[in-house]
Amino acid sequence: TGTVIGIDIGGTKTHGVRFEDGVPVRDESTGSSNVQNVSREVAAANLAALFGMIGGGSVDEVYAGAGGIDTEEDAQALAALISPHVSGARVTVVHDSRLLLAAGGASTGVAVIGGTGSAAWGRNDDGDEARAGGWGYLLGDEGSGYWLGREAVRHSLRRMNRKLKADELTTALLESCGIDGPDKLIALFHSPDTGRRFWAQQARLVVEAAAAGHEASNRLVEQAGRDLADLAAQVVRQLGIAGPVILGGGLGMNVPALQDSFRAGLEAQGIADVRVLDQEPVFGVLQLVAEQRG
Ligand code: BGC
Repeated sequence: TGTVIGIDIGGTKTHGVRFEDGVPVRDESTGSSNVQNVSREVAAANLAALFGMIGGGSVDEVYAGAGGIDTEEDAQALAALISPHVSGARVTVVHDSRLLLAAGGASTGVAVIGGTGSAAWGRNDDGDEARAGGWGYLLGDEGSGYWLGREAVRHSLRRMNRKLKADELTTALLESCGIDGPDKLIALFHSPDTGRRFWAQQARLVVEAAAAGHEASNRLVEQAGRDLADLAAQVVRQLGIAGPVILGGGLGMNVPALQDSFRAGLEAQGIADVRVLDQEPVFGVLQLVAEQRG
């Protein structure tokens, strides 16, 4: 099958694997090159750094799945940043959720990303496709890392307004942000020094506080799972399928409490075939290339 480069572009990182005859020989990550979230220059620099590590040159196929790819123009713009690094390769750019479904070993079903951002996408046997969410952090991204991080800030500000003292979550958040009072969160949130990725990284504080028994954090993690389940259920219904529903993304793959509420949310809507992705989405590329070659 020659040399194939698979790339998964999320809101936080760009993960690239070089396959020689189906065998992964290089596996590296750089910063995000999702043009919805970083400038074209930053995206180009991160892709250049990635190709510097996994090697470009003479390659048969580059297959990339990226967040923030909503139109043919989006896909072409990203392909134009990839093409200069390879010669003679076919470059394909699709939405990142497609890699997830393939990495889950399914050609039909629904892929759900609970990562820095969130999205659900699926396909049925007739080839119909449907999608829910995945509008980016300014418009939606319910149940995502960014959403959880921002909710931690909002939780702390609500308590501040009610003159309640800092609880476990707020204390952890202030420490992580290096500030000494919740009033400083407002300016920090709007500061150019923070951004989507910074706040998404604070999601882990909510997850840790929840695991330690903090009630409000538990409710947030549960709501994230339910919101992701609702995105998935909408796609399942639209496609008229039974499943599988495959959950991926950093939160989706690593947070048991979120997985539980995701499963419960789907079960309540009569959807039982729910799986958690067990390998990185970029490994779905080989199946997608094989399908594309026919
Ligand atoms: C983007 C989607 C993407 C999702 C998961 C969202 O912020 O808008 O396109 O699929 O994150 O990476």
